[in-house]
Amino acid sequence: MKPRKIRENFKCERCGKEVVGDGYTDHCPRCLWGKHVDRAIPGDRKSSCKGLMEPVGVDRVRGEDKIVYRCLRCGHKFRVRLAENDDRGVWGKLGCGNSLRNKN
Ligand SMILES: [Zn+2]
Ligand SMILES: [Zn+2]
Repeated sequence: MKPRKIRENFKCERCGKEVVGDGYTDHCPRCLWGKHVDRAIPGDRKSSCKGLMEPVGVDRVRGEDKIVYRCLRCGHKFRVRLAENDDRGVWGKLGCGNSLRNKN
């Protein structure tokens, strides 16, 4: 199954930024907080949780930068790819103290 592409805008519940969705956007590019809307695959929007997702760390998988999230409500943990317009400075700060795993 491919991720479904749904264009949607939302307001960040953390910093209040109006986020313009590109179809896969599930987190705020400014503070990187997200919302638990997907259950199994990015874009499925099947989760009934809707809890706030806290960015708790960074990861790098096969050269792709990832944000590690933990849902404040249900504790679910998952990683999403860092988007092009995400704030890399904020992302970098998440990585302080967490060493990047390097699989190469
Ligand atoms: Zn935000
Ligand atoms: Zn959740």
